[in-house]
Formats: sequence, structure tokens, C-alpha cells
Amino acid sequence: MRRCIAMRRLLHAAPPARQLQRITTARRDLHDARAPRQPPSTRRSSLHTYTVDPFVRSRRKNYRRRPWTGLELTCLGTGAGGPSVDRNAACVALRLDAHGEQSTTWLFDCGEGTTRQVMSSPISHADIDRIFITHLHGDHLWGLPGFLATWSDMKTNENKIKHIRYGRNQGPRELTVYGPEGLYDYLCSTLTYSQVPPRSNAAVKVVEIASSESANRNPKQKPHGSLVHSGIVEEGTIVETSTHVVSCARIVHRPGLDAYGFVVEEVALPRKVLVEEARRAGLTPGPLYQHLQAGQDVVLQDGTVVKADDVTQENVRPRKVVIVGDTCDASALVPLAENADIVVHEATLEDEQWILARRHGHSTAGGAGRFAAKAKAKALILTHMSSRHHSVKHLERLREQARKSFGRQEVVLGRDFMAVPVPRGGFTT
Ligand SMILES: [Zn+2]
Ligand SMILES: [Zn+2]
Repeated sequence: MRRCIAMRRLLHAAPPARQLQRITTARRDLHDARAPRQPPSTRRSSLHTYTVDPFVRSRRKNYRRRPWTGLELTCLGTGAGGPSVDRNAACVALRLDAHGEQSTTWLFDCGEGTTRQVMSSPISHADIDRIFITHLHGDHLWGLPGFLATWSDMKTNENKIKHIRYGRNQGPRELTVYGPEGLYDYLCSTLTYSQVPPRSNAAVKVVEIASSESANRNPKQKPHGSLVHSGIVEEGTIVETSTHVVSCARIVHRPGLDAYGFVVEEVALPRKVLVEEARRAGLTPGPLYQHLQAGQDVVLQDGTVVKADDVTQENVRPRKVVIVGDTCDASALVPLAENADIVVHEATLEDEQWILARRHGHSTAGGAGRFAAKAKAKALILTHMSSRHHSVKHLERLREQARKSFGRQEVVLGRDFMAVPVPRGGFTT
């Protein structure tokens, strides 16, 4: 009996510190082994990738490892279909922080397990204020009801804590979800039938993108207390903030299914005033600066004409990120995606399997490269890889095929927890 108790204690005891360290190192090694190294040619350009270490819990430590450029992509799910041991279901996080404003994070797709992926990454739930769904297939959507329930709950608790601590309520917070028609009905029914309690101070707005069949369809489901149907928008520009514009176009995936690709572009900054040159020309900081920043010449009180070109210069080039969902033909997105800095494109299968890819409405690695080439993009991230491509050899083949059709070396194989910062002014190569 005593021996039995001792054995039970031994089994439930925490492993000694040295053993724990060995386990953590082994898991890290496994993580790195599954992530093939980028070749030297990619490293020489301004395209760099970083692995967000899910074992390093500290958000600050994780971000300290790389420069913050104000625009960063993090792959949270790079698998096709359901989650696998190597890859989670589809999700890409885009962290933005333009023009010195507070940083925010937008998610593109929300596959099963996204909540846990966000928790394991340095991304904060509280920073996520927009989610874009490319299409209503389960591997891009099944994580959304759970994510919203967790988000609403977190917000409620956060507000309660602030209310107690500071004696005031921070007021309701909002999250907007954009996606094809039917998204609102889907969320209403899943949240209602799974008895998620409505939260009054954590509102989720749903904006649907008009389907090809009916532009004025009304939601059929009984509304859920936390969800607000915010209307139906046409494809094209769907979000305009002071710093960013989001546009979308319908792409080809499966018959009778609306699928979209999204383009996030920074708003161009006004021209930069060269203070020293302006002072020499007789200008002092004031309202005239605004005319010069808009590229207009100004006339001083003594009649002197100051040319905008002489005292201002172009500001940093606005960056453009393209995120394409499942597709076998995304050519409708090319005009919007033109001159993109980075394209995230699915590469479910190899070029040799193009018939199978076409039948299922998916792309090959070569197809992803061709889209990036047509869009004159500077870099390409391959994602949505089939679980059969788990070996380094298979993945390398995908990258080579994409490089060949892209005509550039800047092709990265997406992997979970991989972060890609886009430098200010975009990629130079
Ligand atoms: Zn998919
Ligand atoms: Zn799909």
C-alpha cells in the first residue's frame, strides 16, 4: 500500500528542473526542424522571417527579438483542411501601427484552434478589432464562434476589473467581422444553440459582403444578443480608416461559394517638409506647410513664390499586403494587388497535382507564384499546405516551384508562429 502511494506521488510529481529544461529544448528543436531554413539569397534582401517562440510567454521578450516596423504578418495557421500536428487551420494575423497611432491587430480567417494560437503568440486578444473571413469553409471559420465567445468574456472581465480598480467602466468595446453572406446567420445559430450568454459591453458587428446572387438578402436567423448585423457591402473598398484601406475582390474557389481575397494598403502620407530649406526660403511653421505637403506652391507676403518641390520631399511609400483565401483563380484580385509588398497565397498542392488542385478549387505552388508575378509583388508567403507536404523535401519542392513561376527568390514557406515584418517604405528589392 505504502509503495503504491509512493509510486503515485512519483508519477504526479513535477519533473526536476534540469529534465524540464531538456524537454523544452527538445520541443524547440522539433519546432525548428520542421521549419526549413531560408536560403542565403532570401536573407540578403530586406525580407526576413522570425519565429515567434510559443514557449516564450513574455510578449515583450518575443517582440524584442526583431525590429518593429509598424506592419507585421504572423502566420497562426498554415495548414489545409483541419489542424494537423505540424500546422493549425487557416489564420493570418496582421499587426498594424501606422503614423504613431496605437497598434491594432486584424485576423484573416479564423480556423479551428485560433484562440489557442493567439494565446500562444505575443498577439493580445484585446488588440484584435477586425476579423476578415475569406469564405465559409469550416477550416477557415470553425474557430470564430469560440474566439468571439472568449473575446466577449475577456472584454467583460476586463471592463469589470477596470470598473473596480478605477471606479469607472471603460465602456463597450467593439470587434467587426467581415465575410461572405451567411456569416451572420452562422454565428447567430452557433452562439445561440451553444448557449453563449449575450454580453452587453462587448459588441460584435458583422458586415457581410454582397454575394454574387442576392445583394439585398436579409438575415434569417433569430439575432443573438452580442451580434449586430451592420449591413451588406459590395466588393471593392470595405474599410477606410485614417491610416489604412481594405479592399476585396471575389475570387474563384468552389462553384456556388463566395470566396474573397483582401488587400490592405496604407494611406499615403503627405509630403515631408524639409524644415531647414523651408526656413531658408522664408517660411515659418504654420498653415502654409499644409499646402506644401499637398504639393502646392505657396506665395509669401512679399510676393516670393516657394515651390513645393524645393522645400518638400516624398514621404515613405505606402505598403501593401495581399491575403488570398482558398482559390484556383485569383486573377480578379490582380488590379487591386498590383505592386504589393507581400502576398500570402495558398499552395495546397504541387504543380504535378494541378488536375486535383483544379478539381477542388485550390492552387498549386506554381499557381501562387504566377499570381504574385502578375501582381508584380515583391515577396510571397506560401500557406494552406496539404498535410501530405510535411517533409522538408516536399516543402522545398513547393518553394522551388513557386520561385520558378514567380521569377523571384523572395518566397517563404509559411509555418505556424512565423512573423514577417514589412519594412517601412516597403521591400526595396
Ligand atoms: Zn481551406
Ligand atoms: Zn475552401
